[in-house]
This record gives sequence, C-alpha cells and structure tokens, in this order.
Amino acid sequence: MLKRAGRGQDPLGCDATQEGELAFECPACPHPGCNLPEGWDKASPEIEWLHTLFIATNANYRSGLKDKGICDVELAPGWGSFVEETRFQNHLTNYPNQKEINTCKSQHDAVLWANSHGKEGWLVSGTGLAQCGHHALVHKNGIGDLQKREKYCNMDYIILLAIISITLLRLVITYDIACQWSKNFASWMVEYPEHMHVDLDRVEVRTAVPGFHICAHGADCQRLFSLGLMLWVANTVGKEVESGWAHMNVASPSIQEMGPSNMHESLNDHWGSWNFQKIIMFRTLFRKRFKEAFTMRAKHQELFNKFNVTFKPGTVQKWEAAVRAWDVDEDIANPYEEPVNTMTQRDIRLQLVKEEEADASRGILPLHKISPSTFLSTSLELEEQQRSIRLLVSFPSVYGTQRGKVLRVF
Ligand SMILES: [Zn+2]
Ligand SMILES: [Zn+2]
Repeated sequence: MLKRAGRGQDPLGCDATQEGELAFECPACPHPGCNLPEGWDKASPEIEWLHTLFIATNANYRSGLKDKGICDVELAPGWGSFVEETRFQNHLTNYPNQKEINTCKSQHDAVLWANSHGKEGWLVSGTGLAQCGHHALVHKNGIGDLQKREKYCNMDYIILLAIISITLLRLVITYDIACQWSKNFASWMVEYPEHMHVDLDRVEVRTAVPGFHICAHGADCQRLFSLGLMLWVANTVGKEVESGWAHMNVASPSIQEMGPSNMHESLNDHWGSWNFQKIIMFRTLFRKRFKEAFTMRAKHQELFNKFNVTFKPGTVQKWEAAVRAWDVDEDIANPYEEPVNTMTQRDIRLQLVKEEEADASRGILPLHKISPSTFLSTSLELEEQQRSIRLLVSFPSVYGTQRGKVLRVF
C-alpha cells in the first residue's frame, strides 16, 4: 500500500504517512485545485450545483468481529480507509450511554437498533461507512467499527472525518435515518475537536433519505428529506452504498475470525481494491450512464410535455410560481404536499340525501324526476369519465383500453 501510494521515496519514511494517505480518492468527485475550473466558487446556481459533493453513509452488520482475545498490531493505523483506532475508541468513551430519540414514523431499524446491545461474544457488531454518493468510492478514513449497532457517536465521527478537509460550498449527505441524524447537526458538531468542524456559514449542508427508504418514512419526512423534491441534486438516489456491502459480505466469514488489527488491514485492502476497480471501470460506466441519461431525458421530456398540456396554462403557472418560491424558502407551504381531505364525496352525498328526506317530510318535493343529489353525483361521474378519455387519448401506451372500454385510472 505504501509503495502504490508513492510513499517509498519519502526521506522521512513510513512514519510520516498522513491519515488516509494510502486510500484512493474518487477522481470523479469535485476537488478544488484539481478538477474544477477557475472561479468555480463564484459560479451561478445553474453551474454551481455541479460542484456539490454527495456523500452516502450507511452501516452493515455482516462484517462484525468475534471476541477471541487476540491482541495484534495495526501496521497502517488510520492510513487507509479505516479511521485511526486509538483516537476513535477514545472518542467513543465520551458516549457510554448515548440514547437515540426517534421521532420518525418509519420506526427505521437503524434507529431502533441503535439502543440495543451489541452481540454477545462479539467485539464489533458491524461497520459504518461513508462513500461518495454518485460513484460509490469509500472516503479516506470513511470506515469505522460499530460496537452497539448504529450508534450516532460512531456514525458522526466517521461522517465528520470523511468531510474533514472539504473546501466545497455544497454538501449533500444521504443516510437511511437522515431525518433523525441531522437533527441538531450544528450543536452536536461543536462537541468534536475543532479541526473536525464544518463551517456552516460557508458550506451549505443538506441531508436526505435515499430514494429506496423515503417511502416508508411518512409524510413529514418525505416533505423534508426526499431527493425527488430537492433542487440541484439531479437524479441522485443515494443507494450506491449497498452494492459495496454486497461485494464485501463475501469476505465476512473469514474476517470475523481475525484479530482487530488484522480485520482493519484486511478491510482496508478489500476497500482499496474496490475503489481501484471502480476507477478503472469509470470510462465504460460513465459512457453507459450518459447514453441512458440522454435517451431517458428526451423520453421523460416528451411525456411531461404531453401531460402538462392537459392542464390550463394559468394552473401550471400558479404551480410553477409556488415551486419556485418554495425552492428559495422552505419555511413556506410546501407545494408538493397533498392537501388532507377531511370530507369525502360519500359524506356529501349522504348529507344531501338527508336534506332531501327532511324536505320531503315537510312536503317539499323535487321539481324533477331526478333528485339534486343524484344529479350531482351523476355529473361528477361523467366528468371523471371525460377526464379518463382525455388521458387515454394523450397517453394510449400508459393507460390502454380493455374490451373497448376506457380503463378507470382514478
Ligand atoms: Zn465520487
Ligand atoms: Zn423519517
């Protein structure tokens, strides 16, 4: 690892190796002074979002470690993907009984398990990880052990180390339990050494729940943490991190029998290889993704335009203005939020029937054969049929027909 990282010729020797120096950094992520244009920090929002660093974080419980009483020596302490163990363990002693409070409706496993005890007879119950969100490369010092499931003090440390030297202006962190973890981000960060702080006056940090998990989080979390509603995050999903676990789980049965240092060195090696393989695959991967994006953009644009013209122009303008206003001020009403309907069509029909019965009992009879309530409900049904036909004509491939009848889609 020292040789590959070009450390062989340093006159100061191996001991001068800096933390994380032997890990491969992602060349596709933005690095000021390396792959960003001059004046990147003064670009307009339409360009500036391209300089966002996306970080995906997650935990895995396959790569634990049995307590076999082995005391071995770390050969590359904190030089690669793993955090430096002594400082990490010292940090954890500050949080012996950290209780996680869950206010999310999802009852996510990660939060529930955070308060559970570790596995009996095991030193390590799993691994916490911080990767780049778009390319799935592990950050230097982006891995650490978990002792009691997914405790915040472990994950906070790993995430802060992963972004320790960030000089970018935008950061998006995706995490299954971002809705809980991000609470009081600024206040818990000050408990850490000053060199681990993120300057929140300069750097815009946003947190989101990956697309795969957000549906289970309930309306409140979906409104605030959905990548689908965020501006300047493109088509980010935040679940690239899972592919790394699938790759690494194969090595777990062997790794869990090792000594602690041997485990770290082996995982450093595996993750180093993972990063390297990713980099050499970039050329074919990016070409494939670009072609897909190009084709799908045109397809989605066409479908969107067809759908859009089914609404009155005034309605569309009103919605667009509401979205633009919310994009710059999230404290105002969220235009994506579904209004809660407290009264159903059935309730109204029932109310009208009762009124008609009351009229009849007082001798007031309807002027026509059909009662006002029946007339109203028949009209609404007709209107819905007309809407279905309009959709069918606009999107035959989506809604289709069945035995010559329009499929009722709503
Ligand atoms: Zn990257
Ligand atoms: Zn939630």
